[in-house]
Formats: sequence, C-alpha cells, structure tokens
Amino acid sequence: MASDALLQAEGLCTFYGTSQALFDVSLRIPSRGGVAILGRNGAGKTTLLKTLAGDLRPVRGKVSFDGRDATQMPTERRVRLGLGHVPQEQAVFAGLTVRENLLLGAMGDRSGHDRTDEMVALFPRLGQRMSQRAGTLSGGERKMLAISRALLCKPHLLMLDEPTEGVWHGVVDEITERLVKLSETIAIVLVEQHVKMALSVAKHCYVMDRGHVALEGPTEQVRDDPELVRLLAP
Ligand code: ATP
Repeated sequence: MASDALLQAEGLCTFYGTSQALFDVSLRIPSRGGVAILGRNGAGKTTLLKTLAGDLRPVRGKVSFDGRDATQMPTERRVRLGLGHVPQEQAVFAGLTVRENLLLGAMGDRSGHDRTDEMVALFPRLGQRMSQRAGTLSGGERKMLAISRALLCKPHLLMLDEPTEGVWHGVVDEITERLVKLSETIAIVLVEQHVKMALSVAKHCYVMDRGHVALEGPTEQVRDDPELVRLLAP
C-alpha cells in the first residue's frame, strides 16, 4: 500500500476495564479507496473503529490522521478534521424528521450551504421521506440517512460499521454502488459481515481474529486465501 497514508494506526491496544480487546493492531488507510475490516463476531472490528474515531482510548499505540497525532484528540476535533464515523448502533435521531436530521448533520459544515439536495441526489429514496420521522424509516433508509448525515460533515475518511446490517438485499446493492462511487474521491473503511459486499467495495482488507490482525493484503489476494474461510467460520 502507498506510504502516504491518510490514517495510520500503530500497535493499538484497547481494553474494556481489565479485558483486552485489541492487541497491537496496526493499519494504514490511503487517502482514497475502500478498505474492509472483516472477522467473525467478537473479533474486535467495532472496537477498532471506535478507537480510530476517538470513542475509545487505546492504552498503548498511536493513531495519526492527516499527518497529525490524533491518539488523544477528542472525537469532535477528528470530525472537524475530516474523520467521519457511522457507528453500528442508531446514528440518527429517531424522533426528528429526515429533513431535521440532515439539517443537524449539516451544522458541521461551516460554509452554511444547504447540501440537503446533494444527499437526496445520492440517495433519492430520502427525498420522498423528508417529512417522515427517522424512527419510522426502514432499516435501509435509516442507514442511508446515517451515511448522509456523516457526509454532510465533508469527511476525507468515512468509517462505516455494518452499513448493510438488517437491510433488504435490493437496498444493499444501492448502498454498495454509492460507497464504490464515494471511494473514488475519499477513503472508505468498511466493517461488514456481508463479505461479498465488502470485497466489492474494498481494494485492501484486514481480517481480524480475537483482537489481532490475522490476515492483511490487497483484496484480490485475500479473496483467494484459504485462511479467509477459516477466519470467518463461526
Ligand atoms: P460483531 O461482528 O459481533 O459486531 P466485533 O468484531 O465488532 O463483533 P467487538 O464488538 O469489537 O467485536 O468486540 C470485541 C470484544 O470486546 C468482544 O469479546 C466483546 O465481547 C468485547 N466487548 C465489546 N464491547 C464491550 C464492552 N462495552 N464491555 C466489555 N467488553 C466489550
């Protein structure tokens, strides 16, 4: 992978109390293209994204983003610098309408431009649901709204935790297509159980096992590695 990484993590060790969830995890994210983080349940994928986003602090190791040491940086500062995160759990305000959710997301954009139309162009389904409360959207529509909210902060790197979880397969294709397109201009980090989808977006993969990076490489190499099947087996 190219040496000009947008985000670089070295030797991350993250704990929940006394229980260690990440062991010496290192990774590099280039400034464009998709990177997939795979692994069976409990492998540490969400913990890794939360550590990169600043929601969890590593006990050891270093995170740098866009040439800055971000290890101790608060999450809001990382967002302002262009590090977007769509967490696995609900990333929308259920009691607010789609429009209100987008307007709140746009508050991170200090240019003051209304970019709601841009998001509707990206996900036309949202345009038909502007006055609907986010809590009543389908799973797929809610994921699209969460991704749109994160994009309104103009990230250079967008990290998504299971964007297709609980989403009907027709909508999975729509989300996949948009992420492939986005990865032409920004960096996308994708945690996914839907391996086929993740491999179609990613150029590079990290496969985790019990808090370690167990396999890593370009997608075309990892896809054919017999280790992948073993590492993803329940
Ligand atoms: P999944 O695919 O099921 O979402 P994952 O690969 O994202 O799993 P993590 O959620 O990062 O895995 O969990 C890694 C380990 O950390 C697991 O053993 C999990 O039980 C543990 N863990 C996660 N969150 C907490 C927490 N808040 N407190 C204690 N342990 C936790």
